[in-house]
Amino acid sequence: MKKIYMDHSATTRTDNDVATFMVKYMTETYGNPSSVHSFGREARKAVDEAREKVAQAIGAQPDEIIFTSGGTEADNLAVRGVAYANRKRGNHIITSSIEHHAVLDTCKSLEREGFEVTYLPVDEYGMVRTEDLKNAITDRTILVSIMHANNEVGTIQPIKEIGAIARGKGIPLHSDTVQSIGKIPVDVNELNIDLLAISAHKFYGPKGIGCLYMRKGVRMLPVTFGGSQERKRRPGTLNVPGIAGLGLAIEKAAVSVGEQAPYQARLRDRMIKGIMEKIDYVKLNGHPAERLPNNVNLSFQFIEGESLLLSLDMKGVAASSGSACTSGSLDPSHVLLAMGLSHEIAHGSLRLTLGKENTEEEADYVIEVLPEIVKRLRAMSPLYAGRVQADKHQSEECCSNV
Ligand SMILES: *Cc1c(COP(=O)(O)O)cnc(C)c1O
Repeated sequence: MKKIYMDHSATTRTDNDVATFMVKYMTETYGNPSSVHSFGREARKAVDEAREKVAQAIGAQPDEIIFTSGGTEADNLAVRGVAYANRKRGNHIITSSIEHHAVLDTCKSLEREGFEVTYLPVDEYGMVRTEDLKNAITDRTILVSIMHANNEVGTIQPIKEIGAIARGKGIPLHSDTVQSIGKIPVDVNELNIDLLAISAHKFYGPKGIGCLYMRKGVRMLPVTFGGSQERKRRPGTLNVPGIAGLGLAIEKAAVSVGEQAPYQARLRDRMIKGIMEKIDYVKLNGHPAERLPNNVNLSFQFIEGESLLLSLDMKGVAASSGSACTSGSLDPSHVLLAMGLSHEIAHGSLRLTLGKENTEEEADYVIEVLPEIVKRLRAMSPLYAGRVQADKHQSEECCSNV
Protein backbone atom coordinates (compact mmCIF):
# COMPACT_ATOMS: atom_id res chain seq x y z
CA MET A 1 0.00 0.00 0.00
CA LYS A 2 1.19 3.47 -0.89
CA LYS A 3 1.74 5.62 2.15
CA ILE A 4 0.63 9.24 1.96
CA TYR A 5 1.96 11.74 4.47
CA MET A 6 -0.37 14.70 5.05
CA ASP A 7 0.71 15.78 8.52
CA HIS A 8 3.32 18.39 7.68
CA SER A 9 2.24 20.75 10.45
CA ALA A 10 3.30 18.06 12.94
CA THR A 11 6.66 17.59 11.28
CA THR A 12 8.30 17.19 7.86
CA ARG A 13 10.73 14.77 6.28
CA THR A 14 14.26 16.16 6.54
CA ASP A 15 15.44 17.32 3.13
CA ASN A 16 18.16 15.03 1.70
CA ASP A 17 20.61 17.91 1.11
CA VAL A 18 20.06 19.09 4.68
CA ALA A 19 20.65 15.61 6.13
CA THR A 20 23.84 15.15 4.09
CA PHE A 21 25.07 18.59 5.09
CA MET A 22 24.51 17.82 8.77
CA VAL A 23 26.51 14.60 8.75
CA LYS A 24 29.61 16.59 7.90
CA TYR A 25 29.19 18.49 11.18
CA MET A 26 29.13 15.27 13.17
CA THR A 27 31.90 13.25 11.56
CA GLU A 28 34.29 15.84 10.11
CA THR A 29 33.80 19.31 11.55
CA TYR A 30 33.08 18.09 15.04
CA GLY A 31 34.81 20.72 17.14
CA ASN A 32 33.14 22.69 19.89
CA PRO A 33 32.49 26.18 18.49
CA SER A 34 33.60 27.69 21.80
CA SER A 35 37.09 26.16 21.48
CA VAL A 36 39.91 28.38 20.26
CA HIS A 37 41.76 25.73 18.20
CA SER A 38 41.23 25.07 14.51
CA PHE A 39 38.59 22.38 15.12
CA GLY A 40 36.58 24.85 17.17
CA ARG A 41 37.08 27.68 14.68
CA GLU A 42 35.76 25.55 11.82
CA ALA A 43 32.64 24.68 13.79
CA ARG A 44 32.24 28.34 14.75
CA LYS A 45 32.38 29.26 11.07
CA ALA A 46 29.51 26.87 10.32
CA VAL A 47 27.45 28.39 13.13
CA ASP A 48 28.17 31.93 11.92
CA GLU A 49 27.14 31.05 8.38
CA ALA A 50 23.89 29.48 9.55
CA ARG A 51 23.18 32.48 11.75
CA GLU A 52 23.54 34.75 8.74
CA LYS A 53 21.22 32.60 6.65
CA VAL A 54 18.53 32.59 9.33
CA ALA A 55 18.86 36.34 9.83
CA GLN A 56 18.66 36.98 6.11
CA ALA A 57 15.55 34.83 5.71
CA ILE A 58 13.58 37.02 8.14
CA GLY A 59 15.19 40.42 7.56
CA ALA A 60 17.10 40.42 10.86
CA GLN A 61 20.72 41.00 11.94
CA PRO A 62 22.82 37.89 12.75
CA ASP A 63 23.38 38.94 16.37
CA GLU A 64 19.62 39.07 16.89
CA ILE A 65 19.40 35.26 16.46
CA ILE A 66 19.57 32.98 19.54
CA PHE A 67 19.72 29.26 18.77
CA THR A 68 17.45 27.04 20.87
CA SER A 69 16.35 23.41 20.91
CA GLY A 70 13.27 24.29 18.84
CA GLY A 71 10.04 26.22 18.79
CA THR A 72 8.90 25.29 22.27
CA GLU A 73 12.08 26.52 23.91
CA ALA A 74 12.11 29.70 21.81
CA ASP A 75 8.52 30.51 22.88
CA ASN A 76 9.37 29.80 26.52
CA LEU A 77 12.46 31.99 26.40
CA ALA A 78 10.64 34.85 24.69
CA VAL A 79 7.64 34.98 27.00
CA ARG A 80 9.37 34.18 30.27
CA GLY A 81 12.54 36.11 29.49
CA VAL A 82 10.69 39.32 28.59
CA ALA A 83 8.30 38.93 31.53
CA TYR A 84 11.15 38.61 34.06
CA ALA A 85 13.18 41.45 32.56
CA ASN A 86 10.25 43.88 32.70
CA ARG A 87 8.79 42.93 36.03
CA LYS A 88 9.43 46.37 37.51
CA ARG A 89 7.48 48.07 34.73
CA GLY A 90 4.45 45.83 34.92
CA ASN A 91 3.09 42.34 35.19
CA HIS A 92 0.53 42.20 32.40
CA ILE A 93 0.86 39.99 29.32
CA ILE A 94 -1.55 39.80 26.40
CA THR A 95 -1.81 36.66 24.30
CA SER A 96 -4.58 34.84 22.44
CA SER A 97 -6.72 31.86 23.32
CA ILE A 98 -5.55 29.90 20.25
CA GLU A 99 -1.79 29.92 20.86
CA HIS A 100 0.33 26.80 20.78
CA HIS A 101 0.74 25.29 24.25
CA ALA A 102 4.37 26.44 24.26
CA VAL A 103 3.03 29.98 24.73
CA LEU A 104 -0.23 29.19 26.56
CA ASP A 105 1.31 26.98 29.23
CA THR A 106 4.21 29.39 29.75
CA CYS A 107 1.66 32.15 30.35
CA LYS A 108 -0.25 29.93 32.76
CA SER A 109 2.90 29.20 34.73
CA LEU A 110 3.64 32.94 34.88
CA GLU A 111 0.14 33.54 36.27
CA ARG A 112 1.09 31.29 39.18
CA GLU A 113 4.07 33.61 39.75
CA GLY A 114 1.93 36.72 39.99
CA PHE A 115 1.75 37.85 36.37
CA GLU A 116 -1.62 38.73 34.89
CA VAL A 117 -2.49 37.37 31.48
CA THR A 118 -5.26 38.41 29.10
CA TYR A 119 -6.20 35.67 26.63
CA LEU A 120 -7.80 37.48 23.69
CA PRO A 121 -10.80 35.75 22.15
CA VAL A 122 -10.99 34.99 18.43
CA ASP A 123 -13.82 35.18 15.91
CA GLU A 124 -15.44 32.16 14.25
CA TYR A 125 -12.51 31.92 11.81
CA GLY A 126 -9.87 31.92 14.55
CA MET A 127 -8.87 35.55 13.97
CA VAL A 128 -7.90 37.96 16.75
CA ARG A 129 -9.73 41.31 16.58
CA THR A 130 -7.31 44.24 16.72
CA GLU A 131 -9.96 46.25 18.63
CA ASP A 132 -9.80 43.67 21.42
CA LEU A 133 -6.03 44.07 21.59
CA LYS A 134 -6.31 47.86 21.81
CA ASN A 135 -8.84 47.56 24.62
CA ALA A 136 -6.74 45.05 26.55
CA ILE A 137 -3.56 47.15 26.72
CA THR A 138 -2.90 48.86 30.06
CA ASP A 139 0.11 50.80 31.37
CA ARG A 140 1.15 47.58 33.10
CA THR A 141 1.34 45.62 29.81
CA ILE A 142 4.90 44.42 29.13
CA LEU A 143 4.43 41.88 26.33
CA VAL A 144 2.05 40.96 23.52
CA SER A 145 2.42 37.40 22.20
CA ILE A 146 0.26 36.48 19.20
CA MET A 147 1.09 33.67 16.80
CA HIS A 148 1.46 34.39 13.09
CA ALA A 149 -0.34 31.34 11.69
CA ASN A 150 -2.27 28.78 13.68
CA ASN A 151 -1.00 25.20 13.61
CA GLU A 152 -4.45 23.60 13.76
CA VAL A 153 -6.71 25.65 11.51
CA GLY A 154 -4.11 27.61 9.51
CA THR A 155 -5.62 31.05 10.13
CA ILE A 156 -3.12 33.87 9.53
CA GLN A 157 -3.35 36.73 12.03
CA PRO A 158 -3.12 40.44 11.12
CA ILE A 159 0.36 40.53 12.67
CA LYS A 160 1.49 43.72 10.96
CA GLU A 161 -1.41 45.68 12.51
CA ILE A 162 -1.01 43.90 15.84
CA GLY A 163 2.69 44.82 15.84
CA ALA A 164 1.92 48.44 14.97
CA ILE A 165 -0.55 48.70 17.87
CA ALA A 166 1.92 47.17 20.34
CA ARG A 167 4.78 49.34 19.10
CA GLY A 168 2.63 52.46 19.38
CA LYS A 169 2.44 51.71 23.11
CA GLY A 170 6.11 50.76 23.44
CA ILE A 171 5.28 47.09 24.08
CA PRO A 172 7.34 44.33 22.40
CA LEU A 173 5.49 41.84 20.17
CA HIS A 174 6.49 38.20 20.24
CA SER A 175 5.07 36.03 17.48
CA ASP A 176 5.19 32.25 17.21
CA THR A 177 6.05 31.97 13.51
CA VAL A 178 6.79 28.23 13.64
CA GLN A 179 4.02 27.47 11.13
CA SER A 180 4.44 30.49 8.86
CA ILE A 181 8.19 30.29 8.18
CA GLY A 182 8.73 28.67 4.80
CA LYS A 183 5.03 28.85 3.90
CA ILE A 184 4.40 32.59 3.65
CA PRO A 185 6.85 35.52 3.72
CA VAL A 186 8.03 36.52 7.19
CA ASP A 187 10.02 39.75 7.55
CA VAL A 188 10.42 41.12 11.07
CA ASN A 189 10.48 44.74 9.92
CA GLU A 190 7.60 44.45 7.48
CA LEU A 191 5.49 42.72 10.17
CA ASN A 192 6.54 44.88 13.17
CA ILE A 193 7.74 41.83 15.10
CA ASP A 194 10.24 42.16 18.00
CA LEU A 195 10.65 38.50 18.90
CA LEU A 196 9.79 35.36 16.98
CA ALA A 197 10.11 31.61 17.32
CA ILE A 198 11.40 29.29 14.58
CA SER A 199 11.55 25.48 14.45
CA ALA A 200 13.58 23.73 11.73
CA HIS A 201 11.59 20.48 11.58
CA LYS A 202 8.50 22.30 10.35
CA PHE A 203 10.28 23.24 7.10
CA TYR A 204 12.30 20.15 6.13
CA GLY A 205 15.06 20.72 8.67
CA PRO A 206 15.98 18.47 11.61
CA LYS A 207 14.07 18.13 14.88
CA GLY A 208 15.45 19.58 18.07
CA ILE A 209 16.78 22.84 16.67
CA GLY A 210 15.26 26.26 16.24
CA CYS A 211 15.87 29.80 17.28
CA LEU A 212 14.50 32.91 18.83
CA TYR A 213 14.82 36.19 17.00
CA MET A 214 15.14 39.08 19.43
CA ARG A 215 15.27 42.64 18.14
CA LYS A 216 18.17 44.73 19.44
CA GLY A 217 17.06 46.75 22.43
CA VAL A 218 14.42 44.30 23.69
CA ARG A 219 14.92 43.58 27.38
CA MET A 220 15.08 39.89 28.16
CA LEU A 221 16.57 37.77 30.95
CA PRO A 222 17.91 34.26 30.37
CA VAL A 223 15.93 31.39 31.86
CA THR A 224 18.73 28.80 31.87
CA PHE A 225 22.26 29.19 33.23
CA GLY A 226 25.60 27.51 32.83
CA GLY A 227 27.73 28.99 30.07
CA SER A 228 28.38 32.07 27.99
CA GLN A 229 27.10 30.70 24.67
CA GLU A 230 24.69 32.91 22.72
CA ARG A 231 25.97 35.78 24.86
CA LYS A 232 24.59 34.10 27.97
CA ARG A 233 21.06 34.40 26.65
CA ARG A 234 20.93 30.64 26.00
CA PRO A 235 23.84 28.75 27.52
CA GLY A 236 24.89 25.25 26.51
CA THR A 237 27.15 23.75 23.84
CA LEU A 238 25.75 24.66 20.46
CA ASN A 239 24.07 21.95 18.38
CA VAL A 240 26.36 22.48 15.41
CA PRO A 241 24.87 19.83 13.04
CA GLY A 242 21.37 21.04 13.88
CA ILE A 243 22.29 24.68 13.43
CA ALA A 244 23.97 23.95 10.08
CA GLY A 245 20.85 22.02 9.04
CA LEU A 246 18.56 24.85 10.14
CA GLY A 247 20.61 27.33 8.10
CA LEU A 248 20.40 25.28 4.92
CA ALA A 249 16.73 24.40 5.43
CA ILE A 250 15.65 28.01 5.89
CA GLU A 251 17.71 29.09 2.90
CA LYS A 252 16.06 26.43 0.73
CA ALA A 253 12.61 27.31 2.10
CA ALA A 254 13.10 30.97 1.20
CA VAL A 255 13.99 29.99 -2.38
CA SER A 256 11.08 27.58 -2.84
CA VAL A 257 8.29 29.48 -1.07
CA GLY A 258 7.31 31.45 -4.19
CA GLU A 259 6.64 28.24 -6.06
CA GLN A 260 5.44 26.03 -3.19
CA ALA A 261 2.84 28.38 -1.71
CA PRO A 262 0.66 28.53 -4.85
CA TYR A 263 1.25 24.83 -5.59
CA GLN A 264 0.12 23.68 -2.16
CA ALA A 265 -2.75 26.19 -2.09
CA ARG A 266 -4.05 24.64 -5.30
CA LEU A 267 -3.93 21.13 -3.79
CA ARG A 268 -5.51 22.47 -0.58
CA ASP A 269 -8.43 24.04 -2.45
CA ARG A 270 -8.88 20.95 -4.57
CA MET A 271 -9.16 18.84 -1.45
CA ILE A 272 -11.51 21.18 0.40
CA LYS A 273 -13.79 21.45 -2.62
CA GLY A 274 -13.64 17.75 -3.47
CA ILE A 275 -14.37 16.60 0.06
CA MET A 276 -17.16 19.11 0.70
CA GLU A 277 -18.85 18.22 -2.58
CA LYS A 278 -18.89 14.52 -1.79
CA ILE A 279 -19.79 14.56 1.90
CA ASP A 280 -22.67 16.30 3.69
CA TYR A 281 -22.62 17.83 7.19
CA VAL A 282 -19.02 19.01 6.79
CA LYS A 283 -17.64 22.34 7.96
CA LEU A 284 -14.39 24.05 6.99
CA ASN A 285 -12.53 25.21 10.09
CA GLY A 286 -10.34 28.31 9.93
CA HIS A 287 -10.39 31.36 7.72
CA PRO A 288 -11.47 30.70 4.12
CA ALA A 289 -8.92 33.14 2.64
CA GLU A 290 -6.40 34.21 5.31
CA ARG A 291 -5.14 30.68 5.58
CA LEU A 292 -1.85 28.77 5.32
CA PRO A 293 -1.45 27.35 1.82
CA ASN A 294 -1.02 23.81 3.17
CA ASN A 295 -3.85 23.58 5.71
CA VAL A 296 -7.08 21.63 5.30
CA ASN A 297 -9.13 21.39 8.52
CA LEU A 298 -12.66 20.03 8.36
CA SER A 299 -15.23 18.95 10.93
CA PHE A 300 -17.38 15.94 10.08
CA GLN A 301 -20.54 15.94 12.11
CA PHE A 302 -21.65 12.76 13.90
CA ILE A 303 -18.20 11.13 13.95
CA GLU A 304 -15.05 11.27 16.01
CA GLY A 305 -11.89 12.70 14.48
CA GLU A 306 -9.93 9.91 16.14
CA SER A 307 -11.92 7.18 14.35
CA LEU A 308 -11.45 9.04 11.07
CA LEU A 309 -7.71 9.16 11.70
CA LEU A 310 -7.46 5.44 12.36
CA SER A 311 -9.51 4.57 9.28
CA LEU A 312 -7.41 6.89 7.11
CA ASP A 313 -4.26 5.37 8.56
CA MET A 314 -5.48 1.92 7.50
CA LYS A 315 -5.78 3.35 3.98
CA GLY A 316 -2.18 4.59 4.22
CA VAL A 317 -3.03 8.26 4.83
CA ALA A 318 -1.36 10.05 7.75
CA ALA A 319 -3.37 12.99 9.09
CA SER A 320 -4.15 14.51 12.45
CA SER A 321 -7.09 15.59 14.53
CA GLY A 322 -6.53 19.00 16.05
CA SER A 323 -2.87 19.24 17.02
CA ALA A 324 -0.44 16.38 17.46
CA CYS A 325 0.04 17.38 21.08
CA THR A 326 -3.64 17.11 22.01
CA SER A 327 -4.48 13.95 20.10
CA GLY A 328 -4.37 11.03 22.45
CA SER A 329 -6.26 13.08 25.00
CA LEU A 330 -10.03 13.20 24.91
CA ASP A 331 -10.28 16.96 25.31
CA PRO A 332 -11.37 18.67 22.13
CA SER A 333 -8.99 21.20 20.63
CA HIS A 334 -8.78 24.48 22.58
CA VAL A 335 -8.49 26.28 19.24
CA LEU A 336 -11.76 24.94 17.85
CA LEU A 337 -13.55 25.61 21.13
CA ALA A 338 -12.22 29.20 21.18
CA MET A 339 -13.67 29.62 17.68
CA GLY A 340 -17.08 28.79 19.13
CA LEU A 341 -17.48 25.22 17.87
CA SER A 342 -19.56 22.89 19.99
CA HIS A 343 -17.74 20.00 21.66
CA GLU A 344 -19.46 17.62 19.28
CA ILE A 345 -18.33 19.40 16.10
CA ALA A 346 -14.85 20.01 17.53
CA HIS A 347 -14.50 16.28 18.20
CA GLY A 348 -15.18 15.50 14.55
CA SER A 349 -12.27 17.54 13.22
CA LEU A 350 -9.63 16.30 10.82
CA ARG A 351 -6.46 18.15 9.84
CA LEU A 352 -4.62 17.35 6.62
CA THR A 353 -1.48 19.42 6.12
CA LEU A 354 0.30 19.34 2.78
CA GLY A 355 3.97 19.43 1.93
CA LYS A 356 6.20 19.85 -1.08
CA GLU A 357 6.19 16.14 -1.86
CA ASN A 358 2.41 15.71 -1.97
CA THR A 359 0.91 15.26 -5.42
CA GLU A 360 -2.43 15.83 -7.09
CA GLU A 361 -2.88 12.03 -7.26
CA GLU A 362 -2.47 11.84 -3.50
CA ALA A 363 -5.01 14.61 -2.98
CA ASP A 364 -7.45 12.78 -5.26
CA TYR A 365 -6.87 9.51 -3.42
CA VAL A 366 -7.91 11.17 -0.14
CA ILE A 367 -10.96 12.73 -1.81
CA GLU A 368 -11.85 9.26 -3.03
CA VAL A 369 -11.41 7.23 0.17
CA LEU A 370 -12.78 9.73 2.68
CA PRO A 371 -16.47 9.53 1.66
CA GLU A 372 -16.49 5.73 2.13
CA ILE A 373 -14.90 6.03 5.55
CA VAL A 374 -17.28 8.78 6.67
CA LYS A 375 -20.26 6.82 5.39
CA ARG A 376 -19.19 3.69 7.27
CA LEU A 377 -18.58 5.55 10.54
CA ARG A 378 -21.83 7.48 10.27
CA ALA A 379 -23.75 4.28 9.66
CA MET A 380 -22.93 3.46 13.28
CA SER A 381 -24.32 6.80 14.50
CA PRO A 382 -28.00 6.94 15.49
CA LEU A 383 -27.67 10.74 15.63
CA TYR A 384 -26.79 10.85 11.95
CA ALA A 385 -29.76 8.72 10.91
CA GLY A 386 -32.07 10.85 13.05
CA ARG A 387 -30.71 14.09 11.63
CA VAL A 388 -30.97 12.98 8.01
CA GLN A 389 -34.58 11.93 8.65
CA ALA A 390 -35.42 15.24 10.31
CA ASP A 391 -33.81 17.34 7.58
CA LYS A 392 -35.57 15.36 4.89
CA HIS A 393 -38.86 15.82 6.64
CA GLN A 394 -38.29 19.53 7.01
CA SER A 395 -37.39 20.05 3.37
CA GLU A 396 -40.50 18.13 2.25
CA GLU A 397 -42.65 20.26 4.52
CA CYS A 398 -41.09 23.43 3.32
CA CYS A 399 -41.60 22.52 -0.32
CA SER A 400 -45.18 21.37 0.07
CA ASN A 401 -45.98 24.70 1.73
CA VAL A 402 -44.73 26.72 -1.22
C1 LIG B 1 5.46 22.68 16.29
C2 LIG B 1 5.10 23.99 16.91
C3 LIG B 1 5.78 24.47 18.03
C4 LIG B 1 6.82 23.65 18.75
O1 LIG B 1 8.03 23.56 18.05
P1 LIG B 1 9.06 22.38 18.46
O2 LIG B 1 10.30 22.69 17.69
O3 LIG B 1 8.42 21.10 18.02
O4 LIG B 1 9.27 22.46 19.91
C5 LIG B 1 5.45 25.71 18.52
N1 LIG B 1 4.49 26.45 17.93
C6 LIG B 1 3.82 26.03 16.85
C7 LIG B 1 2.79 26.91 16.23
C8 LIG B 1 4.09 24.78 16.30
O5 LIG B 1 3.41 24.36 15.25
